[in-house]
Amino acid sequence: MTHFETDAIRIAASKSNQREHSAPLYLSSSFTFDTAEEARAMFAEEIEGNIYSRYANPNSTDLIQKVCAAEGAEDGIATASGMAAMFGSMAALLQQGDHILASRSLFGSTHQLLTRVFPKWGISSTYGDISDIANWEKLLQPNTKMLFIETPSNPGLEIIDLEWAGKFAAAHNLILVVDNCFATPYLQQPAKWGAHIVTHSATKFIDGQGRVLGGLILGKKELIQEVQFFARHTGPSISPFNAWILAKSMETLAVRMDRHCESALKVAQYFEGNSELENVKYPFLKSHPQYDLAQKQMKLGGGIITLSLKGGIARAQRFIDQLQMISVTANLGDSRSIITHPASTTHSKLSEEERAKVGISDGLIRLSVGLEHHEDITKDIERALEKSKF
Ligand SMILES: *Cc1c(COP(=O)(O)O)cnc(C)c1O
Repeated sequence: MTHFETDAIRIAASKSNQREHSAPLYLSSSFTFDTAEEARAMFAEEIEGNIYSRYANPNSTDLIQKVCAAEGAEDGIATASGMAAMFGSMAALLQQGDHILASRSLFGSTHQLLTRVFPKWGISSTYGDISDIANWEKLLQPNTKMLFIETPSNPGLEIIDLEWAGKFAAAHNLILVVDNCFATPYLQQPAKWGAHIVTHSATKFIDGQGRVLGGLILGKKELIQEVQFFARHTGPSISPFNAWILAKSMETLAVRMDRHCESALKVAQYFEGNSELENVKYPFLKSHPQYDLAQKQMKLGGGIITLSLKGGIARAQRFIDQLQMISVTANLGDSRSIITHPASTTHSKLSEEERAKVGISDGLIRLSVGLEHHEDITKDIERALEKSKF
């Protein structure tokens, strides 16, 4: 058994006959067959091979193999975006009349999927509060088929006990799907705790430089076969170029995450107790309400911190306008530090009440700690805090 870092670099699916050292980019919509019989056998899935890039392409296969090794997953598919992965995993595995039990703190668009998209096809959902997991059995319905969770959650940084989720799903015969985007496979491997499917927005830390969109659905072979069938005929495929970028990014994921996490902890510790802030939240800060759980299931605390500014929306906006280095954009997981104000942007579609339930206060700022020197990050925030005082 080689290590995570080694597998991420050395596992490679594609090799042309040009003796290239670095993986080439396969910009080809389709692939040729040597004989009519070979074409027949490939379509009949009697032999494996590339047919058409909507089904698979050497670059997407490369990416999938690296990420499966990283997650400890049997098989997977890569999609054009994280949302295509969230949608595809649910749409492929559920049918009319099914019910999804989900944690309340979900990425904004995932929330929209459950509340506005799936009900159109008769798939309903219920949200549970993670502070009350002892009572989740009461939320089950006879038709509950899937348990969908996100940990750490975006942007509330709530931690859900993966061991509990794995046991709960097994006991009630549910498909456990975990959005592992914030942690990445380097920090947390939900399959180890019993997750049947792990989804990712590869757009975030897996890309790591804010260049391309991508998504991943990984998991048990028999479930992934269903997902592959769905994807093959509905077409959410990743482009070869994006897959090529993301496969390259996997090679540096471990070193990048080490630095993101090291700097995030330093920044969080620096601002903890600051008089301009109501709260600083980071999974590996001892003050995080689920610190012990985070320690148990995550290797490090991740690259995201939340800062709750005193003074609500107006203060948060004044603060953002005073930043000199940190980017103001809706992405995260970039080499450049990023600040987002969820209440007015990514989670603005939720009602104020819904936001309050998932811990998004009006003054909450999400900070994606980049790879700049941590002192320059703290300096920029400190200056903006000072200058945005009323
Ligand atoms: C960004 C994100 C998504 C959606 O991914 P896209 O690549 O933007 O489609 C899903 N889940 C989480 C937790 C995210 O942060």
